[in-house]
Amino acid sequence: MDTTQAKTFIKNAISPLFSSLYQGLGQIIVLHRVIPEPKGERLRNTGIEITEQHLEELIVFFKKRDYDFISLDELQDYLQGKIKRKFVIFTLDDGYLDNLTHAYPIFKKFNVPFTIYVTTNFPDKKAVLWWYLLEDLLLKEQSISFNHQEELFNFELRSFAAKEDTFNYLRHLIKTQEGNEQLKLIKNLFSKYNMPLYEKVENMALDWRQIIQLNADPLVTIAAHTVNHPSFKAISENQILEEVNQSVQILESKLNTTIEHFAYPFGSPVEVGVREVELMSKTNIKTSTTGRMGNIMPEHQNHLHALPRLYVGPRTTERYLSDFISGKISFITGSKQRIVTI
Ligand SMILES: [Zn+2]
Repeated sequence: MDTTQAKTFIKNAISPLFSSLYQGLGQIIVLHRVIPEPKGERLRNTGIEITEQHLEELIVFFKKRDYDFISLDELQDYLQGKIKRKFVIFTLDDGYLDNLTHAYPIFKKFNVPFTIYVTTNFPDKKAVLWWYLLEDLLLKEQSISFNHQEELFNFELRSFAAKEDTFNYLRHLIKTQEGNEQLKLIKNLFSKYNMPLYEKVENMALDWRQIIQLNADPLVTIAAHTVNHPSFKAISENQILEEVNQSVQILESKLNTTIEHFAYPFGSPVEVGVREVELMSKTNIKTSTTGRMGNIMPEHQNHLHALPRLYVGPRTTERYLSDFISGKISFITGSKQRIVTI
């Protein structure tokens, strides 16, 4: 037996024991968009899209394992051990139109509750979905150039690889702009190529009438996800509280209901830390989910503003899901952190 074989042997021998500690009570799934099978060339935005068939398979995966499909409101009963069954909670971030047109019919068919975390600028049609504008721009042009902060940017886009590289480069450049600089850069770039800034949000986001329609169904929970989807690390404590409280107020007045759940924008360890979690406990929000990957443990009862989720993207396989929910992935890979918070 060489070292690798020995390691594999040990892992296989101990993993059932340890994975039982790591599997926890259940999972909160994070999705963004559910769409028909995509056609044509695409750049990296596909990471936030799964197909309708993939969503059905995901539901069937948990059905076969006899999981309870529950809403965020029911989470407490499971955390406190009042109900001793495995659970899964479906959540969708941002408020894309396909949540109604493509995801909802599937959730309805299987009677699965789900939550949509709405960025209120989506239904207010004030968000610039620059990641989709950028994808369209790079796919149609053979080269682009623009000025930003007295620097000239020039890109040749003759091959698909060049388009992909440029997408990644510009995505990073736009994401890391501070304050007004981001909007300046976006305006500069897209107006040069005659792309209307709000066209994507008009076509791709839910409007208020549709959100009200969804909210009328007991299967659906509408929750908050800020007004502008900022990175919390880049803004002050007061600004964070304003983003949260204002989005809650807007949703509550439009829907005439109480908003009790929240998801951090982006939600990676870079964007959510101790400060953000402490701030959330000063609001009326009862649960906050992050983008950290992890299973839900009984101990999360004491960390209701740092609930990890399970990201499902187009490349998430059944094998991966089963390793994840068994606790194998969090035990074998990563930090061996059993209770993922921030
Ligand atoms: Zn989001």
